[in-house]
Amino acid sequence: MIEVDIEEEKKEIIRRYRRLLRYAKPILKDGDAKIIKRAFNLSMDAHKDMRRKSGEPYIFHPIEVAQICVTEIGLGTTSIVSALLHDVVEDTEISLDEIERRFGTKVARIIDGLTKISGVFEQGSSQQAENFRKMLLTLSDDVRVILIKLADRLHNMRTLGSMPRDKQLKIANETIYLYAPLAHRLGLYAIKSELEDLYLKYTDRDAYNHIALNINSTKDARNKFIRNFIKPIRDVLNEQPFRYEIKGRPKSIHSIHNKMRKQNVPFEEVYDLFAIRIIVDTDLANEKAACWQVYSIVTDYYQPNPDRLRDWISIPKANGYESLHTTVMSGRGQWVEVQIRTRRMDEIAEKGYAAHWKYKESKNSDADKGLEMWIGKVREILEQNDSTAIEFVDDFRSSLFQDEVFTFTPKGDLRTLPHGATALDFAFDIHSEVGAHCLGAKVNQKLVPLNYVLKNGDQVEILTSKKQKPNEDWLNFVVSSKAKSRIKDSLKEEKKQFIAEGREIVRRKLKQLKIDFSQEALEQLVDFFNMKTPSELMYQIGKGKIDHNQIKKFNDKKEKEVEHKYKRVRDPKAMQTQIKKVREENLDLLLIGEDMDVIDYKFAKCCNPIPGDDVFGFVTINDGIKIHRTTCPNAAELLSNYGYRVVKAKWTSSQDKAFVAILKIIGTDRIGLINDVTNVISSENQVNMRSITVNTEGGIFEGEIQLYVTDTNHVDYLISNLENVTGVVSVSRDS
Ligand code: MN
Repeated sequence: MIEVDIEEEKKEIIRRYRRLLRYAKPILKDGDAKIIKRAFNLSMDAHKDMRRKSGEPYIFHPIEVAQICVTEIGLGTTSIVSALLHDVVEDTEISLDEIERRFGTKVARIIDGLTKISGVFEQGSSQQAENFRKMLLTLSDDVRVILIKLADRLHNMRTLGSMPRDKQLKIANETIYLYAPLAHRLGLYAIKSELEDLYLKYTDRDAYNHIALNINSTKDARNKFIRNFIKPIRDVLNEQPFRYEIKGRPKSIHSIHNKMRKQNVPFEEVYDLFAIRIIVDTDLANEKAACWQVYSIVTDYYQPNPDRLRDWISIPKANGYESLHTTVMSGRGQWVEVQIRTRRMDEIAEKGYAAHWKYKESKNSDADKGLEMWIGKVREILEQNDSTAIEFVDDFRSSLFQDEVFTFTPKGDLRTLPHGATALDFAFDIHSEVGAHCLGAKVNQKLVPLNYVLKNGDQVEILTSKKQKPNEDWLNFVVSSKAKSRIKDSLKEEKKQFIAEGREIVRRKLKQLKIDFSQEALEQLVDFFNMKTPSELMYQIGKGKIDHNQIKKFNDKKEKEVEHKYKRVRDPKAMQTQIKKVREENLDLLLIGEDMDVIDYKFAKCCNPIPGDDVFGFVTINDGIKIHRTTCPNAAELLSNYGYRVVKAKWTSSQDKAFVAILKIIGTDRIGLINDVTNVISSENQVNMRSITVNTEGGIFEGEIQLYVTDTNHVDYLISNLENVTGVVSVSRDS
């Protein structure tokens, strides 16, 4: 037991509360402080006997969430009150009605949006997806729900260290899957970067530490480089009528990590580790001119790359981001990104949506319009409520990530579509009926097919035909969620008809065979034809893909078979108990679940874990427990949508089994290289090569070797030996 100094704790609570008030002070109106105090007292009282996993008093959490709302998002009194009370309805006796009585409808609605759904979900659904969907449903009412939720998530991520490992993985993965993209879409860059960095810290600590250490140790050299780079610019800027500030900051650990992985280069070779930002203080009327003036000064000294000029001042991003970006060649032969913006633009870029409110009177209302359009689009997706929660979250995610392409109607109206949008997306954007009957399009007067990918500035005229209707193929080339969901709706409608026809055929056939049209018979049919569900079977039969005469064969087989060997398990819970029963002697490499049981499992093919890897177990419907690496490309989706099916997994010490590891080797080609590489491998004890494929082109050697190894230490050792072979440039393990 840890001794708790109650008096000291009370003082700390008051200290934190006062700090919150101090930061909020500039935005408080008459009477606000009193309301905040009432909310604080209620929250304090409701959570009084609760502690967080870290042992801290629970009240720390709501205070910190409110603090983030104020300092990092720029929200006001209603949000502070809601943040202080955000966990009260879910975790304590206090009801939503009581909140409404004491703090009004607005606060009550926000807190309702923040309270998780409890209870049972339809199978195949996910609690996280349902909660996320519920939260977004309130978006149309009040965007503050989402902003407070992001603050809540940020504080939970900051304090993730005291959670058990499986919870850490689940929360971190949800964060990278849903919350970081959401923060990005709302223009909260600082929060987005911090969430991503924390994700990396808890899922790949080695990579995180490695990069953090490197950023730190190269700091002096970087600062010197930046000083030299800005010296000549500074001299000219000093002569300008406006004040300015220059910052040179390294990019986030997460984005550096992504670059290292994508380009397969070590830290030293990531060239755009940092960007230089020039912020000018100027009034609204002179913003654009001042930014281009700075651009002109920078490019007087350094040659710009014309392909890397981005003007988000003339056309801001949909999330409100405004800035002028260019990449220039430094005197030392290194490309440097320079971001030019005003103080106002900088604040919006860091704090996002809330900063918009502050500048609401500004003449540039286009950015606001963009955000409203986006909220309108999200609302549109929400209104199609027959999609499952997971489908919904997927669609939503895809609408988050895209950059935009700007196109025009024949009359010259601007239509903003997601990057990669096709003529068909454009048609659906105009109207669902136009989309459904779209035959093709004329882009800049030229005839193009439906799947033509639109470019900035394209002028699009849609051609329709009454006979045209949506087909499955269309889903392969539309990218907007509106087009996707409308096509799916139409296909579902068609599918329903085929299912009805199929059902009629099955009923008739079974009658001829004198078999009852029962649930049991249906399930046996589903198994016999190797389908997943009865409706899938009906569909295949209705559409004529399965010849209905085969139902007779099913009857013949049925008569021969006395009884089924085993029934398929469809319910994940039943699955789990079934798996628990299986205890095999040889499978003692991994301990699984809370009790660290020895149970049956398989290794996932997508990431090929080997002993020493950080791993987790995932309960599949038909194939038992699969073991994945925490760095597996599928991990984020599995953990955030099906968190309840994740089980802990830990390696035991007995390691006499062999595992497949795949190594990628890149080098300069020379005679005898393959021979040297295979010699290194075969000289190792216990390593067997399963296969080797080699590709040489233009003097570059690219090889993939599959090996049997015992654990990660073993692989690391092998990699360092292979890297010593003359001509080999890099060796990496595939994930
Ligand atoms: Mn919370």
